[in-house]
Amino acid sequence: MPDAATVTLSDIMSAARVIRGVADATPLVPSPFMESRSGQPFWLKLENMQPIGAFKLRGALNAVASLPEGCAGVTCCSTGNHGRGVAYAARERGLRAVICMSELVPQTKVDGIRALGAEVCIVGRSQDDALAESRRLVAEEGLTEISPFDDPFVIAGQGTIGLEIMAARPEVGTLLLPLSGGGLAAGIARAARAIRPDIRIVGISMDRGAAMAESLKAGRPVPVEEVASLADSLGGGIGVDNRLTLAMCRELLDEVVTVTEEEIYGAMQVLYHEDRIVAEGACVVGLAAVLAGKVTLDRPAATVITGRNVDMKMFTDVISGRDVVLGDLTVKGTPYGR
Ligand SMILES: *Cc1c(COP(=O)(O)O)cnc(C)c1O
Repeated sequence: MPDAATVTLSDIMSAARVIRGVADATPLVPSPFMESRSGQPFWLKLENMQPIGAFKLRGALNAVASLPEGCAGVTCCSTGNHGRGVAYAARERGLRAVICMSELVPQTKVDGIRALGAEVCIVGRSQDDALAESRRLVAEEGLTEISPFDDPFVIAGQGTIGLEIMAARPEVGTLLLPLSGGGLAAGIARAARAIRPDIRIVGISMDRGAAMAESLKAGRPVPVEEVASLADSLGGGIGVDNRLTLAMCRELLDEVVTVTEEEIYGAMQVLYHEDRIVAEGACVVGLAAVLAGKVTLDRPAATVITGRNVDMKMFTDVISGRDVVLGDLTVKGTPYGR
């Protein structure tokens, strides 16, 4: 049973047993291109290969498995992938699931959740609006809320990625972790630091609405304006009542770096053209930080390719070098390699 205040290596090892056979053991593959650019062996943990196309299945399975018999069902707010994980895990247990999302969530993610049999509520323009609706369902319909990141079972589930990376490549000395609410980074960092205390851990967010980066600076949860981004899965705040991830990120992350939309655009092109991987903007922030010279590597490194549930129109525009228009944002196109 996780401690209320943090998540331990032993919680993560328990999560690994819970999710075994459903969401474990994705490949860890080398990126020769990133090695040539960074001067260090560079590994990609392919969480885009999970059954729901994203790592969020790990945390969702672990959290849903922890619920008592006879519970009325589950609800959550989500930028898309957590909702899909919860929908998948709830279906496995025969539970009702209601997923609350804002209008900023791409249609492809909404469709994926409906296809798993979950109910979908689209409310407002931010994660906070979606969270308020989810809380209303808890109060009025007796559903259990599963936070996308600030839940000990969710964090422990995501942490299993850290166990797998360190088991497969013990020489990894730097982890580059996409950072939004911080469940992924906190879980992986807890596992990796326990196994290799001197490991360097860098969290990376997009500079448009970097809620965890701002909150770490301020020493308390800072609300940020939510805006469209190529890295839509990294949107949203960390919650004004954040219990776990802010403290864990403060304890475990050595650095937090932010990248621009142009840097994300370029790194999506690299991942596709060099490594032939289809992935969301959120996945490439680690590559982007290295390619932009914001992180210099002195040891073998690994990053997590967190998900593949990208809007295909946006994706094909990026890899073809066309402009991308997202709400009030236009990212200017550049053909790859010029
Ligand atoms: C949720 C998500 C992240 C960020 O995870 P946090 O735990 O919120 O920091 C990164 N990439 C993808 C694809 C995601 O779905």
